[in-house]
Amino acid sequence: MIIKTNALVLRFYPFSNTSRVVSWMTPDLGRIVTLVKGSQRPRSLFLGQYDLFYTCELVLYRRERGSMHIARECAPIKVRPRLRRDWKAAATASYLAGLVSQAVPPEAPHEGIFSLLDAALDHLESGGSGSPFLFWFELQLLEQMGLAPRLRRCAACGAALASGPRRTEFAVARGGLLCPDCAGEDRENRARVGSDVLGMLAAWQQARAPQGPLNTRCTSRQRAAIETLLGGFLAYHLDVQPAGRRAALDVLARRVA
Ligand SMILES: [Zn+2]
Repeated sequence: MIIKTNALVLRFYPFSNTSRVVSWMTPDLGRIVTLVKGSQRPRSLFLGQYDLFYTCELVLYRRERGSMHIARECAPIKVRPRLRRDWKAAATASYLAGLVSQAVPPEAPHEGIFSLLDAALDHLESGGSGSPFLFWFELQLLEQMGLAPRLRRCAACGAALASGPRRTEFAVARGGLLCPDCAGEDRENRARVGSDVLGMLAAWQQARAPQGPLNTRCTSRQRAAIETLLGGFLAYHLDVQPAGRRAALDVLARRVA
């Protein structure tokens, strides 16, 4: 079956001397892998038509059996040159695309995740960056996958949590904050989280556009706390050790300093 869809290039690698395997995020088919036959031949119609972090219009032959489809035609819609020129933007984009590659199951249509990554790469292309933006993306991806940390209600019993200045028990395995009653039980895998950090997480979780987190100023202590908390949450709930996260956060922190 021939299908036409928008598609974001997540990664690619050689299949032979002249062909490549390309991994894409699409709204209609989810995360898919295609073979691009002959793409490295000098007169290939695919030359210059796709690259890392491009959003393309892709025509593919969809194979019902087997995991690899066949790319037939491709034309770029957004090429995002900054993401190949600016090291900080490139490191962040690599991490975001890599996280989607690792965390999103294949062949499951998900328009929301496609739109999230497309908007995030647009934001990087326009010069936006910073560790709050990266954390915002992680929270939004978790939300899209139905795994958002529970910050307003107890993750164990569902009771509404009182607000105000305090430190709160965050239970990674339970999926979020615990009320005082539930916090007294099983004490494994807990983090104590300050209300300042919780306020940032809650604000980023609610911000649907990447411009929101730009106004947040994190101290290095807050940044370190959020990095550890969200890193542990991603590892536990998505079962990934996200490649490139450390590198991207190091690069971004140096710019802030
Ligand atoms: Zn509770």
